Amino acid sequence: MPRLSEVIAALDNLWPAERAESWDAVGTVVGDPDQEVTRVLFAVDPVRQIVDEAVKLGADLLVTHHPLYLRGTTTVAASHFKGRVVHTLIKNDIALHVAHTNADTADPGVSDALAGALDLRVARPLVPDPTDPEGRRGLGRICELDHPVTVRELADRAAARLPATAQGIRVAGDPEALVRTVAVSGGSGDSLFDVVRAAGVDAFLTADLRHHPASEAVAHSPLALLDAAHWATEWPWCELAASQLDEISDRHGWDLRVHVSKTVTDPWTSHSPSLGAPN
Ligand SMILES: [Zn+2]
Repeated sequence: MPRLSEVIAALDNLWPAERAESWDAVGTVVGDPDQEVTRVLFAVDPVRQIVDEAVKLGADLLVTHHPLYLRGTTTVAASHFKGRVVHTLIKNDIALHVAHTNADTADPGVSDALAGALDLRVARPLVPDPTDPEGRRGLGRICELDHPVTVRELADRAAARLPATAQGIRVAGDPEALVRTVAVSGGSGDSLFDVVRAAGVDAFLTADLRHHPASEAVAHSPLALLDAAHWATEWPWCELAASQLDEISDRHGWDLRVHVSKTVTDPWTSHSPSLGAPN
């Protein structure tokens, strides 16, 4: 069985920490480099439900997309929920490793997994990483559809293929407009409107879109917006990452047991469709 340090080295090879944004906090949060790893769990959020699942599963390593601590802290006291997570992990000999913006821009990365879930053909990154001479890494992806579909059909496909959340898929723009090209970006896509418009795509699938940027985007261009739950747009990466680690495990003869959490950690739990008319 591999030691944690060996598994982390393999993960760092997939998602080098130096490729994370400067504000990000990636890498190993909890764990003894010498401990043996037999079972790994991938999840989006390092929250209590997921840590409890890792304990139940007998996992030695939890790999999450979102950081536990993004800013500095002076306490890991269990009276706070993040401290409780740290305590539970250490008491159960479970390591925690984070791959966040370094997984977003990887090849393949978070948006490749999102595109793959919808059977979209990836053409190129939406925001290419200037340090990649091959132009394959970067934030978001521009995808082409071999058979154009309407915005409504694309939204229905996203609703069917992404894991179910209370939000479902919100659409802005003409639902009957044809989509031949679509930009996708897992997680919050608010900051990408300028590059999406410059790319001249028919639609943009992402999460966390706010009123003003969305309103301006659809008022001044034919761009359609598809807004999914943040968690749902990033969850497909867990399956991709798990399959990548499985392959590494086979290659090294490690025989790791690699799991993907199906626990929905999207914070929104219910959705009531509007029925009243404005008056
Ligand atoms: Zn995210």
